[in-house]
Amino acid sequence: MITINENYLKLQASYLFADIARRVAACEEKHPEKDVIKLGIGDVTRALPAACITAFHKAIDEMADDATFRGYGPEQGYDFLRKAIAEHDFQSRGAAIDADEIFISDGAKCDSGNIQELFARDITIAIPDPVYPVYVDTNVMAGRTGGFVDGRYRKIVYLDSTKENGFLPALPQQPVDLIYLCFPNNPTGSVITKEELQKWVDYARREKALILYDAAYESFISDPDLPHSIYEIDGAREVAIEFRSFSKTAGFTGTRCAFTVVPKESTAWDRNGNSQSLHALWNRRHSTKFNGVSYPVQRAAEAVYSAEGQQQCRERINFYRKNAELILSTMENLGFACVGGINSPYIWVEGGMDSWEFFDLLLDRAGVVCTPGAGFGSCGEGFIRISSFNSHDKVTAAMARIRAALPAEPGESPVRHTDG
Ligand code: PLP
Repeated sequence: MITINENYLKLQASYLFADIARRVAACEEKHPEKDVIKLGIGDVTRALPAACITAFHKAIDEMADDATFRGYGPEQGYDFLRKAIAEHDFQSRGAAIDADEIFISDGAKCDSGNIQELFARDITIAIPDPVYPVYVDTNVMAGRTGGFVDGRYRKIVYLDSTKENGFLPALPQQPVDLIYLCFPNNPTGSVITKEELQKWVDYARREKALILYDAAYESFISDPDLPHSIYEIDGAREVAIEFRSFSKTAGFTGTRCAFTVVPKESTAWDRNGNSQSLHALWNRRHSTKFNGVSYPVQRAAEAVYSAEGQQQCRERINFYRKNAELILSTMENLGFACVGGINSPYIWVEGGMDSWEFFDLLLDRAGVVCTPGAGFGSCGEGFIRISSFNSHDKVTAAMARIRAALPAEPGESPVRHTDG
């Protein structure tokens, strides 16, 4: 009899986006005249940069000719892309990362979900709350957690990100082995300074722990003092793996290209206390289970690093930044306490009420869709996430509607945050 991995039964069905879609559909049916504006999902809306499209076309033409056709490529990615990444994203920032420490993949979602396969089942994991749900669910599937009780999985050490700690979790009070960090953060939009990140690296070195650093939104950092990579921090090479993606940087959400950095010194231990190279283990895993990203996609990604590609990506990031600024200033002017929106495409807004209640209020009164914070973890209750990924026109219209829908005078609004 074929039996299942029962850990899957512990998973909480992810109703978040299905629930949002259901409520939006109900609203559209009730008010067919209302043009609902969607600022919920974190997906880009601008087309690929022209430099990427040109490179993409050229590579496809190469595939059409026997003389230049390419079959299977290296599982780790082509050297042309790995070298461009190492040079532009790391060495230029003083982070000593070599091309052969970079593993090209089809997404930071898969990589951040798959990496846990390298580790023992009985390690202690620390995961922020609220959080990008992939880190939690993949550890549940692997059997590293207990059941779901009162809104949380047993055995996970949750790192609370709250208003009180500025959405920057404190170091864990108990020893942990594997730590997930994501900055700029999804969903809160919060960022981390070099000094704060140094504390996590020092902790990991002291405890022989490992940090999984998700920097999928690094291109939104505008403050020159903030780190784009954990490898800008002293001592990180031994204790950190970093995830990056072209999804938000260059609009590759549908094209699919990302990479994971596993430095040669990064280490974990076997049962006998012998150190083992994570680079070697990930190389083995990646080349066994993955057959590489398609050649044209890697050429398109390489074009991100050309002078035109860089300029075109910057233009797109600035486009979303302008949206984020408008959302942030509108919500703050209405008296809501907010974080994010400056070095991040997301604005995390305290509604002063239940997340879903706030969601319904914005949908019913303004016809604007956001994401309820409670969907990202129990610390997200009371907040919503507004995404800047949409056109200027739509964001401007959405903000005008929210301004019109919420009472103007302090004290009158049922949603206004009192100390905002
Ligand atoms: N990491 C974070 C924090 C994200 O928010 C996302 C996507 O929304 C990803 C990773 C996934 O990126 P990719 O499109 O490369 O799979």
